[in-house]
Amino acid sequence: MDVAGGGPVGLVFACSLRAMMGDQVVVRVHDRRWRRHGNRVVWMGEQEGNFRREQVVTLQSNVWSTLPLRVQKRLFADGRFGEMWPLGPDSPADRGRPRNLKIRWIEDVLLDMAQDVYGIELVPGRYTPPPSWSGTHVVAICDGANSPTRELLKDHFGSPDRDFYSVGGEQLVETVLGIRIKGTLPDEHTVPLTVCQNRYLFNSLGGGFINMRLTAEEASEIVTIGEDGPVECMRRYRCMMLPRGGRFVCDRHRAVLKPSVDRLSFLWPRIMEGARLFGAGDILGLTVFQLSMTQTARFTAQLAPSTFGFLLGDAANSLHFWPGRGLNTGVKSALSLAGALRSRWQGRPLRAADFSGHEGLMQQLQYREKSRAWTTMLMPDEDGAPRLIEDRLRAGLRGPHDRQALLAELLNRVRDIKSRLAGRMGALPADDWYLARLGALHVKTLKALVESGPWITREIGGDEVSVKVDFPDTRVVLPRLAATA
Ligand SMILES: Cc1cc2nc3c(=O)[nH]c(=O)nc-3n(C[C@H](O)[C@H](O)[C@H](O)COP(=O)(O)OP(=O)(O)OC[C@H]3O[C@@H](n4cnc5c(N)ncnc54)[C@H](O)[C@@H]3O)c2cc1C
Repeated sequence: MDVAGGGPVGLVFACSLRAMMGDQVVVRVHDRRWRRHGNRVVWMGEQEGNFRREQVVTLQSNVWSTLPLRVQKRLFADGRFGEMWPLGPDSPADRGRPRNLKIRWIEDVLLDMAQDVYGIELVPGRYTPPPSWSGTHVVAICDGANSPTRELLKDHFGSPDRDFYSVGGEQLVETVLGIRIKGTLPDEHTVPLTVCQNRYLFNSLGGGFINMRLTAEEASEIVTIGEDGPVECMRRYRCMMLPRGGRFVCDRHRAVLKPSVDRLSFLWPRIMEGARLFGAGDILGLTVFQLSMTQTARFTAQLAPSTFGFLLGDAANSLHFWPGRGLNTGVKSALSLAGALRSRWQGRPLRAADFSGHEGLMQQLQYREKSRAWTTMLMPDEDGAPRLIEDRLRAGLRGPHDRQALLAELLNRVRDIKSRLAGRMGALPADDWYLARLGALHVKTLKALVESGPWITREIGGDEVSVKVDFPDTRVVLPRLAATA
């Protein structure tokens, strides 16, 4: 079995399948961000152009508790995870609260376990489909949102459709700035500050990224200047701009982020306001994300008489990350396929019918998660009419401004959120604490927060799609489900 892409989803899939099927399955994972170091495979470093991802992701307990027990044990080592978000439908009380982890830590643990515990063959380098599928029973495509393998196999999967997530015939693309900070406030206390508005989202493990949604005008300020003029840097390669003597620069492209040196920048003071809201001292780095969605026609395809291909993770469903479900959805998809393979493999060629259940679950996940993310992108107003975040922010940046009324509105929202969250998370500070944080902001920021609206938790809440997984006895001997003959 080949796995194209050894990010978190490819590795979860490979490790879970080996945990379920043991030596009945031969798994080979390919990733272009790996290299060999002695007899081990390791992540490439910055010198090789690989900037490890520092963002913090939240795994729901319905997801983390279904990972193999050995993986859970290593992943949730002391000091490596935190609990910030409340219990909810995908994190019920009997399984525990959602857990925050650094994506880099998830990748490190899984890469080590893949080689040390699960005996998975790891191949550094770009995955190229073989000239013949003969002997390869399964290809799991986990190479991320832009999936080069999905593109190569588009005759089988079709092309992702942008029309579903377009407005006025144009695909909706949001620009979000990632502001990396060290945390100074207890992570949990910041939750009502995030949930009372839609401009800034802070996900933290003693620090992390404040994600800031931008208007098109603000996004046009994200310009990086090199020695000979503007360079494609942050926008194209998602470079992290680092603080160097009061400016933010990219060491790789020797470029400076213009707003950080432009005294007339509109954007820069608004970035600093985000940092102030969440009590950040210094900004440790800045990066940018472009977020859009497409609809996938099918997730399972027969590539040859005895070979099936599957889209998993972001290659299958790339989501707007505001509701924090991308990796959760990816892990659910990986566990679903692993379960289907383990229950259907009888030592004879697999058939299309073996994957009806898995394909159905993928379609369910797509419907549930893209509806949730799309509602977050369109953000209905009180009458249910869509009002894009851009329009809200633009209205927020215009006057007139009534400081007292704006503060009162935000404090009301905080009170309401606190009462809804009571019993679903730890104790939160008194209202005065929140008032002090909000009161430190400029009146224009307060208006932008008010106009951006509180999180639309009712519209995007409700039942979640669940995957049933079991890790049975692997001692039953069947012919191997192989990578190659
Ligand atoms: C700021 C931010 C915050 C987020 N917060 C959350 C959150 O709170 N909760 C949540 O659930 N999700 C969150 N997400 C989403 C989550 O990070 C992604 O859904 C997840 O990383 C997807 O994992 P993946 O393995 O499918 O893809 P990726 O992480 O993109 O991994 C793909 C892998 O494939 C490799 N690759 C690519 N092309 C090839 C090739 N041709 N050959 C070989 N290898 C290849 C790449 O090197 C990479 O290792 C967030 C995302 C962002 C950007």
